[in-house]
Amino acid sequence: MQFAMTRSVKSCGSCTFCCKVMGIVELDKPQGVWCQHCRPGKGCGIYESRPTPCRTFACQWLAEPDMPDVYKPDRSKVVLDTDQGGPRLIAECDPAAPLAWRNEPMYSLLKGQARAKWGGDMMVLAKAGRRMWLITPKEDIDLGLVDPRSPLDVQQRPDGSAVVRVLPPVPESENMAEHLAKLRPRT
Ligand code: SF4
Ligand code: SF4
Repeated sequence: MQFAMTRSVKSCGSCTFCCKVMGIVELDKPQGVWCQHCRPGKGCGIYESRPTPCRTFACQWLAEPDMPDVYKPDRSKVVLDTDQGGPRLIAECDPAAPLAWRNEPMYSLLKGQARAKWGGDMMVLAKAGRRMWLITPKEDIDLGLVDPRSPLDVQQRPDGSAVVRVLPPVPESENMAEHLAKLRPRT
């Protein structure tokens, strides 16, 4: 993503939004509920011993120096995540505000990404807990409740619409990233 403004190094500050919207397998924490260790607006209660995903995670706002503060998760109510380098840009929303991804300027950013990546190997999604939408240049497809380990088989049409199949969940014993890599969108 390209933004005109340049910024100095960012920090999370008082934002703890990912500690609610993201699922953490190591903590048996589902998506969309506060982590039992979080002190909302203050930080992590087990900072020194927090699990690896918490140590390594950086949302797109934090990772992209030029992304304006209007996209900061505690302001936009959306955590932008690239799915650990996988072929998906995901707007993770608080289930208490499941349609926050439709607010501007977030919606235009997501639509712009959907248009820019169409015909390529990336898909743009919005999520709120298990509810999921596929965002295409032409439409927003409500996929209903989707298991977080269910890959999507997406066929992109030239007019900007798509045909989507939600596949059975990948077993916990198998590597999810490998399954996602095999199932990039096709035209
Ligand atoms: S959502 Fe982003 S800015 Fe907020 S605490 Fe998590 S990594 Fe930091
Ligand atoms: S362990 Fe800490 S950093 Fe990880 S989700 Fe819980 S509060 Fe957030």
